[in-house]
Amino acid sequence: MSATGLAQGWERPQAGALFVVSGASGSGKTTLLKRVFEQVPGLQFSVSATTRSMRVGEAEGVDYHYVDIPTFRALRDGGELLEYAEVYGRYYGTPRKPVERALGLGLSVVLDIDVQGARQVRQSYPGAVSVFILPPSVETIRERLTARGTDSAEVIARREREATEQLSACGEYDYLVMNDNLNTATRVLEGIFLAELSKTSRRLHWVRKFTAG
Ligand code: 5GP
Repeated sequence: MSATGLAQGWERPQAGALFVVSGASGSGKTTLLKRVFEQVPGLQFSVSATTRSMRVGEAEGVDYHYVDIPTFRALRDGGELLEYAEVYGRYYGTPRKPVERALGLGLSVVLDIDVQGARQVRQSYPGAVSVFILPPSVETIRERLTARGTDSAEVIARREREATEQLSACGEYDYLVMNDNLNTATRVLEGIFLAELSKTSRRLHWVRKFTAG
């Protein structure tokens, strides 16, 4: 599918949305998000800061900003993070400025963060739209984590435990997407984003255009 799936006839809203997407490791969230980004123009991915090391295939500034613990703590203590959490023994946090800048320009921002971070964002941005990506079953998580081949058995076991914990918070989210089939899940997530971006409150210029007076 082309990178401009909706480019023709799609006008991004005046007021963008802040999307929070969570899902247990192995839920297929990263693949799903990449596909939706190819389809929906005007979405900006928030690149988090993390103290975990870079995985094969990842790049600085694309997947994460890789920082050491003192740097992370300085960012956190300086109020530079919109939210942060400790996940799998590593720190992860959302740099505040790029998010505020993008929203200020009317763009939409997507945060791929865990449930602790999502709770903090709901507090500071009550209008944030939250989506949880579900795996078909807990067994699927184990299979997908193992298939990734990047982590040791010990790390996989820990991630599986954490994944189960993350899953128990799915009821706090606005939307649930079951990622049993990637094509279906892509369409559902895309549909959620497009519906949210079509809300009248984000399209008041169209109301004015078609309303007399
Ligand atoms: P991974 O190490 O597999 O890239 O990510 C592990 C978990 O950390 C995922 O659930 C991901 O959503 C979460 N995560 C990534 N960035 C952030 C962040 O900035 N803040 C929070 N709270 N969680 C994050």
